Amino acid sequence: MASQHIEPRPVESTPKTLQPYPNKISSDALDDWHLIPQKPNWAEKFHQYWQPGEKGAHKTLNTFLEKKIDAYATHRDFPHEDKVSRLSPYLQMGEISPHYVWHKAKHTTEPSKHLDKFLSELGWREFSYYILYHFPKMCDTNFNAKFNAFPWQKNAKHLKAWQKGKTGYPIVDAGMRQLWETGWMHNRVRLIVGSFLTKHLGIDWKEGAAWFRDTLVDADVANNTASWQWVAGSGVDAAPYFRIFNPILQSQKFDKNGHFIRKWVPELKDLPDKYIHAPWEAPKEQLDKANVVIGTTYPTPTVDQKEARDQALAAFYKL
Ligand SMILES: Cc1cc2nc3c(=O)[nH]c(=O)nc-3n(C[C@H](O)[C@H](O)[C@H](O)COP(=O)(O)OP(=O)(O)OC[C@H]3O[C@@H](n4cnc5c(N)ncnc54)[C@H](O)[C@@H]3O)c2cc1C
Repeated sequence: MASQHIEPRPVESTPKTLQPYPNKISSDALDDWHLIPQKPNWAEKFHQYWQPGEKGAHKTLNTFLEKKIDAYATHRDFPHEDKVSRLSPYLQMGEISPHYVWHKAKHTTEPSKHLDKFLSELGWREFSYYILYHFPKMCDTNFNAKFNAFPWQKNAKHLKAWQKGKTGYPIVDAGMRQLWETGWMHNRVRLIVGSFLTKHLGIDWKEGAAWFRDTLVDADVANNTASWQWVAGSGVDAAPYFRIFNPILQSQKFDKNGHFIRKWVPELKDLPDKYIHAPWEAPKEQLDKANVVIGTTYPTPTVDQKEARDQALAAFYKL
C-alpha cells in the first residue's frame, strides 16, 4: 500500500507574523448578503453538531486519536457506533491540513491496522483530488463514457422521497434524515443511499451529487464526485455496476439491532429487530403493537427492491 512507502510532506511551520493588506478595501457588510437561510432555516441546529474553525478541528482530531482510533478498522462501518473521526468538514474547509492530520496520527498512535486504515482513508481523499485534477470534467460528466447512454429515470416523486428520507426503506431513510438534520452522513450509509438512488430508483448520480452538495457540511467537489461515480459504476476504478447493494441485507449487517434506524426513523422504534429492516414484511399484529401502519405512519416501499435490481441490471447489460 502506497501510504506505507510514501510520507506526505511535513507540515509547514506557522508564520510568525501575517502582515495585513495595507490599503483600505471597499466591501459589503456580510449581513447584507443574507446568507443565513430562513425558509427553511436548515442551519438552525448547526451549532448543536459542529464547532467550526481551527479550534473545533483540533478538538475533533484529538478526540478521535484519544478515544476512537483504536477501534477504527473494525468498527468504522457501523453507523450507530461513533468510531469515525468526523474530520471531513474541517478538511474540506481547510480548517485543518491533511498533512497535519496524517503526521499527528502517525506519530502519536501505536502502529496498528486501525492506524493504517485511517491513513489509507486520507489517501483516498488524495486520490479523489488527483483524479479531479487530471479529469476536471468528472464533476458533471461520466468518467466512463459508456454511461452517457444509460437510460436514467426522471422521476421527481422518487427523487423527492429519497431526499426527504421517505423511500420506505428504513436504512436509506435513516441516512437521508441524518444528513438533513446534521449536514453529515456516515460513510457506509452514503454508500447504501447512493446505490439505492442510482440502482434501485435508476436516477442519475448527478442528482444525488447535487443534493449532497446542497446539504453536506463536508460537500467536497473531489470526494463527492469521485464517490458518486464510484457508487454509480461510471467512475475511475468504480464498483462494478452489477454489484448492487441490497438495502435490507446491508441494514441487517451494519445496523443489526436497528439502533441507527430507531434514532433517525422514530416511527419504527417499537418494531422488533427482526422486522425493522423491512417493516412491510412484519405480521399485522407486530405492526399493530408497534403502532406502525405501512402507507400511513411509514411509507410503502417506493420500489420492489428485487424488481428494481433486475431492471437496473437489464439496462446495464444493454449498454
Ligand atoms: C456517495 C458519497 C458521497 C461522498 N461525498 C463526500 C463529500 O462530499 N465530502 C467528503 O469529504 N467525503 C465524501 N464522501 C466520502 C466519505 O463518506 C466521507 O469522507 C466520510 O464519511 C467523512 O467522515 P469522517 O470524516 O468521519 O471519515 P473518516 O472515516 O474518519 O476518514 C477520515 C478522512 O478521510 C477521508 N475519507 C474517508 N473516506 C473517504 C472516501 N471514501 N473517499 C475519499 N475520502 C475519504 C475524508 O477526508 C475523511 O474526513 C462521500 C462518500 C460517498 C459514498
